[in-house]
Amino acid sequence: MSDRPTATHKEAGGSARGASLADKLERIGVLRDEDLVLHLPLRYEDHTRLVPLARARSGATVQTEGVVANVDIQYRPRRQLVCLLRDAERGDATLTLRFFSFYPSHQKALAQGARIRVYGDVRDGYFGPEIVHPQFRVVYEDTPLPDRLTPVYPTTAGLSQDVLRKAVERALAADAARTAEVLPAGLLRRRDLWSFDDALRFLHAPPPRLSAAAQKALDERTHPAWTRIKFDELLAQQLSLKAHRKARAARRAPVLTGTGALTRALLERIPFRLTHAQERVWQEIGHDLRRGIPMQRLLQGDVGSGKTIVAALAALQAIESGKQVAFMAPTEILAEQHYRKLQSWLSGVGVEIAWLSGSLPAKARRKALESLESGAASFAIGTHALFQEGVALPRLGLAIIDEQHRFGVAQRLALRDKGMTEAHQLMMSATPIPRTLAMTFYADLDVSVLDEMPPGRTLVSTRLVSQKRRAEIVAWVGKGCREGRQAYWVCPLIEESEKLELQTAVALHAELTRAFGPRQAAAADESGTDSVSGCAVAPIAVGLVHGRMKPDEKAATMDAFARGDIGVLVATTVIEVGVDVPNASIMVIEHAERFGLAQLHQLRGRVGRGAAESSCVLLFEDPLTDTAKQRLKVIYETTDGFEIARQDLLIRGPGEFLGARQAGVPLLRFADLERDVELIEQARDAADELLKSDPEAARLHLDRWLGSRQAFIKA
Ligand code: ADP
Ligand code: MG
Repeated sequence: MSDRPTATHKEAGGSARGASLADKLERIGVLRDEDLVLHLPLRYEDHTRLVPLARARSGATVQTEGVVANVDIQYRPRRQLVCLLRDAERGDATLTLRFFSFYPSHQKALAQGARIRVYGDVRDGYFGPEIVHPQFRVVYEDTPLPDRLTPVYPTTAGLSQDVLRKAVERALAADAARTAEVLPAGLLRRRDLWSFDDALRFLHAPPPRLSAAAQKALDERTHPAWTRIKFDELLAQQLSLKAHRKARAARRAPVLTGTGALTRALLERIPFRLTHAQERVWQEIGHDLRRGIPMQRLLQGDVGSGKTIVAALAALQAIESGKQVAFMAPTEILAEQHYRKLQSWLSGVGVEIAWLSGSLPAKARRKALESLESGAASFAIGTHALFQEGVALPRLGLAIIDEQHRFGVAQRLALRDKGMTEAHQLMMSATPIPRTLAMTFYADLDVSVLDEMPPGRTLVSTRLVSQKRRAEIVAWVGKGCREGRQAYWVCPLIEESEKLELQTAVALHAELTRAFGPRQAAAADESGTDSVSGCAVAPIAVGLVHGRMKPDEKAATMDAFARGDIGVLVATTVIEVGVDVPNASIMVIEHAERFGLAQLHQLRGRVGRGAAESSCVLLFEDPLTDTAKQRLKVIYETTDGFEIARQDLLIRGPGEFLGARQAGVPLLRFADLERDVELIEQARDAADELLKSDPEAARLHLDRWLGSRQAFIKA
């Protein structure tokens, strides 16, 4: 097939009107005629039949015709155009048309005596059947009816269905190449797929009076015509992923051989031995770094599996090789903790670390930037502030992204634009990728899995407790803390209002401070919940961390907790990811029903890290919604991160996994990651087949489907 250059709509339409149509089309993602033929209907209307006006009953969607008997503007209850249609044969049957927004052109078209064809939902009006805002047109007795279902397309303000339909029709008719088959006949035949042309012509203009089964399949997008389109879309995605992978293999990245000096020093300084899984994964990463091809590896490991030390070893190999490393975490508190941990691990081995976060004072920021720019600092740790304007890492060799699923697609794109393509990338996540995502959006990554927990982890016992029994939990936590344990107490999540969440945190802190304060002994006596009644009870220090605190206050509180000076730490979800205080063995989560599964799993993962037996108490408020019940049941029954992620995907869908909603990007327009698993597999095999047998066809297919969308697929 020839490779013909395509005129864009902008070039084609010279006039001002043409240009504005092109702008509107661009808003719905249509840049070329190719995109227009792939702009597929949301649903259909049946305009192929006429119901006699006398039989237009309320509750039905109908198309009917009548002659205008009267038209006028009425003002009660508000300004509206009202038109009375009469059945041409049966003069006693009428239908009222009502328009609350209208133009002079409406009035002109609905002239008395004109024959009008209308389509809409009939309802019972005060004066008999009526349709509000019907679609209508002026017709004559012999105006033919369409012989196909009428498509309704996704559109944008100012772009009418009529204009869009005509544009699609024109694009379909203009050039047979738009719908020509680019895939080899054998590939299609083996999978029983419709031809591209047949599928498109069917979907843009299906025949009327389909069988009930066919109509249902059309509506639910399981019809063979849809199957072909979804297959094509998934095939394009697979081809794009493979092309990306190939392009990566052709790119050069620094060869980070390392000397072993720093990594050895680190291994000597840490108070534990690597697990077998850590050893293995560290080998995999070390090997990637020596290859001179940009690494893109995802390190997957459940909460607490020990990803940080592996990241640190990778970083040191890069630094030994004379390169800089950027280590990015999604929250300030987590980034800071990494900073402190690495600072302590690396103090004395001669690696200068620069700390960068959004809330850093200007002077400190300038100093950090200077030391990175001059190369004095070889290790940058921080939040996404690391990849903002003005940050120069002239010798960047490796970027490490912790909790990568917390970053949205847009942020991942920004990262790529940061000239990161020549650096190695290590992404880390405690959230296992569900299979369909692993086959699609993440198919380009290499994956290492930490499938072994460090020794000495204790199983966390989980209890579900109603808020009504909160007092008992307060007493029980107090008792635990007096025996030397430490507790997190997580505030209710209030998604709608950060301010309210803060107030709640402050109130909870006050409440617990009172409960665990010096005068608590007497109170404990009265309620009879403390078994050591009568004895003087030592007060327990209660701390508070939340997102609005200044970083140094936050750090001071976390330090005090890590040192054991604070017994109970009241926290908002700022501690959700990654925080590590081994002595803490009690986790109380208030209003656990408001949290997502991944969040609950992460929170619970904050305990069970030390020698003490750990408990997690999920306080919930009755009555629970069905989803909340489902979630709490999952978290109660399992501690396995993989199983929890699987359940989470079932409950929430894949969009949130990808962070796609944040970025507002439709990642797949037609295929559905959950429902079309089989098609994904077919597309994956077909992509391999096509690249081997007919790379030119693969190129044409990619161009047809992705055109300008390529960037997002690769994010
Ligand atoms: P995550 O994978 O959730 O990021 P971390 O890297 O924070 O886990 O590790 C959790 C805790 O386990 C830390 O205190 C870390 O120092 C400790 N740890 C990591 N590896 C080992 C090991 N092999 N043996 C004992 N403790 C370890
Ligand atoms: Mg971590």
